[in-house]
Amino acid sequence: MFFPDGEDMTHHHQPVEQQKQLLKQRLNLQTQALVTLARSQTIDRGNFKAALQEITEVVADILNVERVSVWLYQGIAVAQRLPLGFFPQVNEAFFERGTPSGTARQVPGTEGIRIKCLDLYEHNLRCHTSGTELAAGNYPVYFQALASECPLAVHDAQTDSRSQELSESYLRPNGITSFLDAPIWLNGQMVGIVCLEHIGVQRQWTLIEENFVTAIATLVALTIEACDHILTQKQMRQHHQFLVSEYHDDLERLVEERTAELTRTNEKLQKEIQRRSTVEAQLRNYQQHLEELVEEGTREIIQTNEQLQREILSHQRAQEALQESEEQFRCLSEATFEAILIIDQGNLCQVNTNFTQLFGYESGEVIGRNLGEFLAPEYRSCVPQLTASNSEQMYETCCLKKDGSTFPAEIRSKAIPYQGRLVKVTAIRDITAQSQAQEELKKSVSLLNATLNSTTDGIVAVSTAGKIVSFNQKFVEMWGLSQDVLRVPEKQEGFKFFQEQLKEPERFLEKVNQFYAQPNAEGDDVLELKDGRIIECFTQPQRSGFQIIGRVWSFRDVTEKAKAENTLRQHLQQELLIAGMCDRIRQSLNLGEILNTTVEEVRQFLRTDRVIIYRFEPDWSGTVVVESVAPEYLATLDIVIHDPCFGADQIVPYQQGRIQAFADICAAGLTPCYADFLRQLQVRANLVVPILYGVSSQKRGGDGERLRPEGDKEPALWGLLIAHHCSGSRQWQPIEIDLLKSLATQVAIAIQQSSLFEQLEAANQELQRLASIDGLTQVANRRRFDEYLHEEWRRLAREQSPLSLILCDIDYFKLYNDNYGHLAGDFCLQQVAAVLRQCVRRPPDLVARYGGEEFALILPNTDARGAAFVAETVRQRVRGLRIPHVKSPVSQYVTLSLGVASTIPRLYASSQKLIGAADEALYQAKAEGRDCLRHQR
Ligand code: GH3
Ligand code: MG
Ligand code: MG
Repeated sequence: MFFPDGEDMTHHHQPVEQQKQLLKQRLNLQTQALVTLARSQTIDRGNFKAALQEITEVVADILNVERVSVWLYQGIAVAQRLPLGFFPQVNEAFFERGTPSGTARQVPGTEGIRIKCLDLYEHNLRCHTSGTELAAGNYPVYFQALASECPLAVHDAQTDSRSQELSESYLRPNGITSFLDAPIWLNGQMVGIVCLEHIGVQRQWTLIEENFVTAIATLVALTIEACDHILTQKQMRQHHQFLVSEYHDDLERLVEERTAELTRTNEKLQKEIQRRSTVEAQLRNYQQHLEELVEEGTREIIQTNEQLQREILSHQRAQEALQESEEQFRCLSEATFEAILIIDQGNLCQVNTNFTQLFGYESGEVIGRNLGEFLAPEYRSCVPQLTASNSEQMYETCCLKKDGSTFPAEIRSKAIPYQGRLVKVTAIRDITAQSQAQEELKKSVSLLNATLNSTTDGIVAVSTAGKIVSFNQKFVEMWGLSQDVLRVPEKQEGFKFFQEQLKEPERFLEKVNQFYAQPNAEGDDVLELKDGRIIECFTQPQRSGFQIIGRVWSFRDVTEKAKAENTLRQHLQQELLIAGMCDRIRQSLNLGEILNTTVEEVRQFLRTDRVIIYRFEPDWSGTVVVESVAPEYLATLDIVIHDPCFGADQIVPYQQGRIQAFADICAAGLTPCYADFLRQLQVRANLVVPILYGVSSQKRGGDGERLRPEGDKEPALWGLLIAHHCSGSRQWQPIEIDLLKSLATQVAIAIQQSSLFEQLEAANQELQRLASIDGLTQVANRRRFDEYLHEEWRRLAREQSPLSLILCDIDYFKLYNDNYGHLAGDFCLQQVAAVLRQCVRRPPDLVARYGGEEFALILPNTDARGAAFVAETVRQRVRGLRIPHVKSPVSQYVTLSLGVASTIPRLYASSQKLIGAADEALYQAKAEGRDCLRHQR
C-alpha cells in the first residue's frame, strides 16, 4: 500500500512542499505502473486472462482499492464493437449469449444489454473471480450514467442517484461504499468498464485517480487488441498448415493469398505497434502535462489559500476590533459612575443606564426630549451653552428628576462625530455627596480651628520640608513669637527661636533632626526653658491617607505641674523619712542608733554639710551627741560647748518651740559672739529646731502642727536638732523646716522612750531583787536558795568542784518566842542573819533563810573542811552575840545547831541529796546536844 485510502493530498494542515512531494511520488508510481503493464510479457503471450489479472492486481495495489474489476458489454449491439478476431475466441471463453442472470423487469430498448465481469480482484483476499453480470434492464439509471461515456466517480454509492438501484442487490452485499468506473474504448466504441470499488469509509476519488483509471481503461483496450492480434496470427498459422496438408496443389496460391493476408496483418500489427508507441508517448506527455498542471495548480491553490487566509484574518481582526470597540464603548458608558447622554441639536438621542436610574425614568422615556427638561427651571438658561459645539466647560448645575426632586450636579459636554454627524456627548455627575462632604469639611475645619484655639496647648504643623504651615494662637504666645518668625520658610531659621529659649538647645535640635530622619516616628520630650518654664512637647506625623505630609508638634506648659510634682516628691520623701524614723523608734530601743541614722538621713535629704543633735546639760552647756558631717568640714562630735552667750533669753523661746533659720549668718544680725561661734564651726547658714522633752507623742499632727506639752507642764528643752550649711548661704524651704520640726519631735519621742525604758529596766531589776530576798532578815529567801543551789549544782558539776551546804537551826526558839515574844523573836532572827552574812566572804557564797528559824549557807567551790570551818565560825559568832535565852536548856544565850554536807555535784544527780545530808547532820547535832555542828556521814 502506497497511500492511505481516502487521504486528501491537498489537505491544508500539511506543509505545501510536503503535499507537492507526495503528489509527485504518486504520479511517478502511477506512471511506472502503466509503463510496466504496457510492457508486460503476459500480453505478448496472448494470455488475456492473465493480462487482466495483472492489471487489476496492480491497480488495486497502486490505488489501494479493495475491489478492482474489468467488465465488458454483452449483447448484439455491443458485441459488434469488439474486434472480429477477438470476439469469437473471447466470446467462448467469457461471453455467453443468452438470457441475463437478473430476472428483474427489463427496460425497453435495453434488452439483452448487460455487463459481465471478466476479472474481479479482491485485494485483501488476493483472489480473482469472474462471471458476475449486471443487466441494463435492471439498472437503467446506472447504465445511463455509464453511457455518458465519462469516468463515473461516485463517492457515496449507497445514496448517489446514479447507483442507488445497485444498492440492495450489489453494493450492500459486497460492502461497497464508493466506486470509480472508467470506460474502455476500442475502435471509437465503448466496450466495457474498469471498475474500482471501495469498501469501508466513503472515499473521495481524486482527479489523479480518475485519470489513472482512465489510462488503465485505455491499457485494457490495447490489451484486448493485442490479444486479438496474437490470436489471429495463431489461427492463421493453423489454417496455413491445414491448407498445406489438405490443399497442396493450391499451395502456391494459398501461400500467396496467406502471405498477402499476413503482410496485411503484419502491416496492421506494425501500425498497431506504432500506435501503441504514440499512445505511450502521448501518455508520457500527458503525464508531464498533468504534473505541470498539478504543480501550477498547487502553486495557485497555495497562493489563493494564503491570500484567502490573509483576508480572513484581516476580516476577523476588523470584526473583532469593531466588536471590541463597540463593547468598550458600551462598557465605558455603563461602567462610568456618571450619567452619559448623547445630545443631537439639544435633544437626547442616546443615554446610559446610569442616566435613567439617576433621573428616575424608564429607558426609552427620555429619547428625543430636550436637555432642558432635565434641569431645574432656574438652570435651563445654560442649555445653549452646554449644547454649543465648541464648549467643553464644566458647569455646576441643578438637575431635575422625574419625581420633581432636584440634585446638584456637574455637567460637561464634548462634541464628537457620531453616525455621520456632530453630536454632544454629555456627562452628568451627581455631586450631592461631594457637596455634603464639602459642607462637612467646612464644619470640620471650623471645628478644628475652634479646637486648636481653645486648647491650652501650643500647636504647630510643619511640612515635611520643615516649613511651618499652621499654628494656633497659644503657640505664638507660648514662645513669644512675632508673625515674621513664623513666615520664615527656612527650617533651621524656623527653629531658631526654640533654640534661643531652651536650656539645652543642642539636645532639642538633635531630637528634631531624628524626627525628620524618621518621618513615621512619634515622640515626646520635656523641654526646660531658660526662663524656668518647663514645656512638655509631643510630636507625631501628619498623614493624608497613607502618605506622610508633615509633622505636628504640640507644646504644653507644665511648669506648675512640675513644681507641684516636685513638692509632692519632697513631701513624699519627707513622709518616708519620718515614717522610717517612726519605724526605727518602734522597733529599736537603741537611742544611739536611732539618732545616728536620723542625722545621716536628714543630711542626705537636705543635701547639706552637717547635721547634729546637741544635748543640754543642766548648766546649759552641752555636747554634740550625734553628728553627720561632710568629710571636708570640721567634726564636732563629743565637743563640749560652753556658750557664754546662750542664756535664759535663748532658752525660753526654744522651750516654746522657736525655730531659727538663717540663710546667711553674716547677714542675720547675730550677736558677735554667736556669729563668731558659728564661724568657728564653718557655718554659713543654719537651721535650728528644739528637741523638747516631755511632749506627748499622741498629739503630733500630720501637718506639722505644733507639739503640745503634756498637761500644763512646760516641756523641758532636752537639746537641739541643727542643720549647718557650710559651702554657702542657703534659703531654707518651709518643707525643710517642717521636716526638721517633725524629726525633732520624733527625736524627743525616741529620747523619752529611751528614758522610760531605762526606768523600766531599773524597776524590773528592783523587782527581781525583791522577789529573791527575805523581807525580815534581808538575806535570800527560800525561792532564791532553791534557784541558786540548782544553778551552782550544774555549774560545779561541769567544773567538778566541791559544793558545801550548811543548815543552821536556832535551838529552842519556840521557848524563846514563848518567853520573849514574837517581836523579840523576829529581832533575834535579824541579828542571827546579819552574823551569817558577815561570816561568808566569797561572792558566790549565799546566805538564805531556809524557813522559820532555819538558815542555809551555800558555799560553792568549798570542801567539807572549809565548810566545817565556816560552820564553826558561825556557831561561835552567833553564840558571841550573847542574845539572852534564859529558857534554853543548853545555854543562857541563843545558840545554833548546824549540819554540814559537802559533795562534788554530778550533772544528772539531784541537789536534794545534799540538802538531805545536811538536814540529817543537823538532826544529829540537835540529837547530840545542840549548840554544835555535825557532818554528814
Ligand atoms: P529545837 O531546839 O528543837 O529547834 O527547838 P525549837 O523550839 O527551836 O523548835 P521548834 O521547831 O519546835 O520551834 C520553832 C519555833 O520557831 C516555832 C516558832 O515559834 C518559831 N518561829 C519560827 N519562825 C519565826 C519567826 O519568824 N519569828 C518568831 N518570832 N518566831 C518564829
Ligand atoms: Mg527549827
Ligand atoms: Mg529550833
